[in-house]
Amino acid sequence: MAPAQNPISSKHVAVIGAGASGLIAAREIHREGHTVVVFEREKQVGGLWIYSPKSESDPLGLDSTRPIVHSSVYESLRTNLPRECMGFRDFPFVPCVDDFSRDSRRYPSHREVLAYLQDFAREFKIEEMVRFETEVVRVETVDGKWRVRSKNSDDLSKDEIFDAVVVCSGHYTEPYVAHIPGIKSWPGKQIHSHNYRVPGPFKNEVVVVIGNFASGADISRDVAKVAKEVHIASRGSEASTYEKLSVPTNNLWIHSEIETACDDGSIFFKNGKAVHADTVVYCTGYKYKFPFLETNGYMSIDDNRVEPLYKHVFPPALAPGLSFVGLPGMGIQFVMFEIQSKWVAAILSGRVTLPAPEKMMEDLIASYAMLEALGIPKRHTHKLGKIQSKYLDWVAEECGCQLVEPWRTQQVDRGYGRLVSNPENYRDEWDDDDLIKEAYEDFASKKLISFLPSYFPESGR
Ligand code: FAD
Repeated sequence: MAPAQNPISSKHVAVIGAGASGLIAAREIHREGHTVVVFEREKQVGGLWIYSPKSESDPLGLDSTRPIVHSSVYESLRTNLPRECMGFRDFPFVPCVDDFSRDSRRYPSHREVLAYLQDFAREFKIEEMVRFETEVVRVETVDGKWRVRSKNSDDLSKDEIFDAVVVCSGHYTEPYVAHIPGIKSWPGKQIHSHNYRVPGPFKNEVVVVIGNFASGADISRDVAKVAKEVHIASRGSEASTYEKLSVPTNNLWIHSEIETACDDGSIFFKNGKAVHADTVVYCTGYKYKFPFLETNGYMSIDDNRVEPLYKHVFPPALAPGLSFVGLPGMGIQFVMFEIQSKWVAAILSGRVTLPAPEKMMEDLIASYAMLEALGIPKRHTHKLGKIQSKYLDWVAEECGCQLVEPWRTQQVDRGYGRLVSNPENYRDEWDDDDLIKEAYEDFASKKLISFLPSYFPESGR
C-alpha cells in the first residue's frame, strides 16, 4: 500500500447506478467521509436483479436507438453461486427464516437477491443518497473536475459538478451476438438471452441454443420443458461432440459449434449433424458500453477490452477522478465490488495513493503483453477466472482491508465445478457442507448472525 502523501480530504462524488456495485460503492465512499449522489435511471435499487417480464423490441439488441430494458433476468433464474459466498462481507446473504415470503434455498431465485439488495440499501440508508428515475446522459472532465449531465423522468436536464465519478452502470445489457456463417439468409427467429424471459413462446419448436455456460445451460433446460427439441451448440466442445442429455423431457442434445446456417432453415453443426430449427437463442455474452462517457478519445472499447484501465478500475490519466467498479465478470462479484469500492474510497480521500500515471500505463502495457503471451484473447481481458483471488488480494492489500476468506473462493470453485459436471441439479445437490459450515461459523464469529442455522448440515447430496 502506498502511504498517504496528503491530508485526508472529503470529495463530492457521483456514483452512476444503484445495482449491487453502485450500492456498495456508495456505502464505502460515504463511510470514508465523502458526500455521495447516486444516479439511477430505474425507480428502485437492485439493477440487474429487478426482473421485468418486458423485453426489448429488437430481440438481438442490434438497433442502437431501441428503448433499453436493463435487466437480463429470466423468470426461472436462480443464482449460479451459493448464497453464502455471494453476499457483502458485513451483511451476509443468509436466509430470512422468520419470513415465509422469502426464498431460503442455498441457490435462491432472483427475487431473493433483489430483496437482499433492498435490505442492504435500507440497513445502510443508501436510498437517501439515490436520485431515482434519473439517467446520466453525459460525463466529461472540466478544469480538473467532472461535469455530470442527467435527465429526470420529466425529461429535464441538469448539469452538476463533482470531484469524482464512479461508474457502476453494469455490463449485462448490451448483447454480444456471435457470428454464424450463412445466418443472414436463414429464415428463422433469433433472440439473445438478454431478451429471454419464459419458455412459452418456444412451444413445440425446434430450438438451437448457442452457449453452454450458466445462462445457456439454464435456458436450454427451461425451453426444453415446452419445445419439441433443443440443441445446444457448444464452442468449448470437441468437433465430434454429439450427445443426448438426460432431462425429464428427453429432448435435449449437445453438439459442437455451428458450421453454417442455410436458407432452407437448416443448421449444420461441426459434428456433421443438421437440424431444421425454428429459433436460435444466443447465450453468447455481453459487451461493455458507456454511452454517457466523453473522454476526448482517451478511453476506448476495443474487442470488449475497456482501455486503458489500471487494475480494471482507474484510467491512468483521468484517475482518481474517474473510476469503474464491477468491470471484471464471473467469480465472486459482490465482494469484488466491495473491495474495489474500498480502494476507490481510500484513493479519493488521499489515505492511499496511486502510482504516477506513467507507472500505471507501464503496468497496464505489461499486463496486456502477458495476456498476449498466454494466448488469451483481448476480449477476455476482464475475465479474471482463476487469477481473481490473486487480483482481489492485491487490491485488498493496497487499501488495507481484509483479504477474501478462503472458504468463499473454494465455494465458488467447487460451485462452478458442479455447474459444469451437473448442470441439471447443481443448485440442489452439493458436496461442500464443510464449506457451508465454515461460512456460517465465520459469520457467527464476527457476530454477523446470532445463531447457526440447523438446516445446513443435512442439506445436499
Ligand atoms: P447492474 O446490476 O446491472 O446495475 C447497474 C445499474 O446502473 C442499473 O440499476 C441501471 O439501471 C443503472 N444505470 C445504467 N446506466 C445508467 C445511467 N446512464 N444513468 C443512471 N443509471 C444507470 N452474480 C452473482 O454474484 N451471482 C449470480 O448468481 C449471478 N447471476 C447472474 C445471472 C445473469 C443472467 C447475469 C447477466 C449476471 C449474473 N451475475 C451474478 C452477475 C451480476 O451481474 C452481478 O452479480 C451484479 O448484480 C451486477 O451488479 P452491477 O451493479 O455491476 O450492475
